[in-house]
Amino acid sequence: RAKDAGRQRFVLFDDSLQQTALDILELERQLRSALANDEFEPFFQPIVCLVDGHTVGYEALIRWQHPERGLLLPADFLQVAEDSGMIEDIDWHMYRLACTAATALVRDGGFITLNISPRHFRNEDFAPRLLALTAQTGFNPAQLRIEVTEGTLLGDPEAVTRVLHHLHAAGVQIALDDFGTGYSSLGYIHRFPLKMIKIDRSFVEPLGGEDTQRSRAIVEAVIALTGSLGLDVVAEGIETPAQRQALIDMGCTYGQGFLFGRPHAAGHWRATGNGHPR
Ligand code: C2E
Ligand code: MG
Ligand code: MG
Ligand code: MG
Repeated sequence: RAKDAGRQRFVLFDDSLQQTALDILELERQLRSALANDEFEPFFQPIVCLVDGHTVGYEALIRWQHPERGLLLPADFLQVAEDSGMIEDIDWHMYRLACTAATALVRDGGFITLNISPRHFRNEDFAPRLLALTAQTGFNPAQLRIEVTEGTLLGDPEAVTRVLHHLHAAGVQIALDDFGTGYSSLGYIHRFPLKMIKIDRSFVEPLGGEDTQRSRAIVEAVIALTGSLGLDVVAEGIETPAQRQALIDMGCTYGQGFLFGRPHAAGHWRATGNGHPR
């Protein structure tokens, strides 16, 4: 019976029809049980140097091994987790697993990144708790980067600045994720202790195709900006050699995407010997 219900749900969510209040409650129930039953797992996707392809770090991305529906992506559950507030517990669980699994991945150097939900910045305890987690798992904070979005930075700039400076002082670097999809004002960027900007996949996708003028202009502007601020720039969602080449020609240093590697469990990268970042 539970299995039938699971199937029905699968169809509902998969067709992305309007979710009823009941569906959301059911998903919340399943998320709680997923936490209790340890069904979340960090996957890792390499971030590479575009010119020579060597791995410089990995982004940790949450996955849910659902007992009936199989491997679920953030798109299947993150919104409900955010809205219910459950994302805080889920993220802390995920961050612990990620730091533990990644220790071997970055033993010889390189970094991992964690995606930070905006909710955490409402919590004064976030920075000390993250640093305590690195201490407990033996993960070097200098090899940790956190990914935040433009929306997060602007939500409560003063509170966010305090948290970021606290982490930055302890060696944690800050990356601005999905750049270009949020607020278009670039003026605020220098106010935060950023190390890296990730250009959103939507600007990378058209590159190397027919009509790339607009995306090119935006990507070139971002690369110029990051260069003058001394920040690392990473292009997200690179799928083709043409996109990679276009980005190299524009002076982009780092990239991430299916062309270089899909997200996999840490064991995959250890096993393939691809895990030698410098
Ligand atoms: P994001 O941080 O922008 O992560 C990049 C997303 O692009 C990932 O999706 C990744 O699998 C996907 N991607 C990478 N390369 C390619 C490519 O070449 N082509 C295409 N089409 N996609 C590519 P994913 O893993 O489904 O994650 C989606 C979003 O969920 C992430 O976007 C991030 O905002 C959020 N997220 C992931 N893990 C966590 C987590 O542990 N905590 C929180 N709070 N959010 C997370
Ligand atoms: Mg990210
Ligand atoms: Mg992103
Ligand atoms: Mg995103």
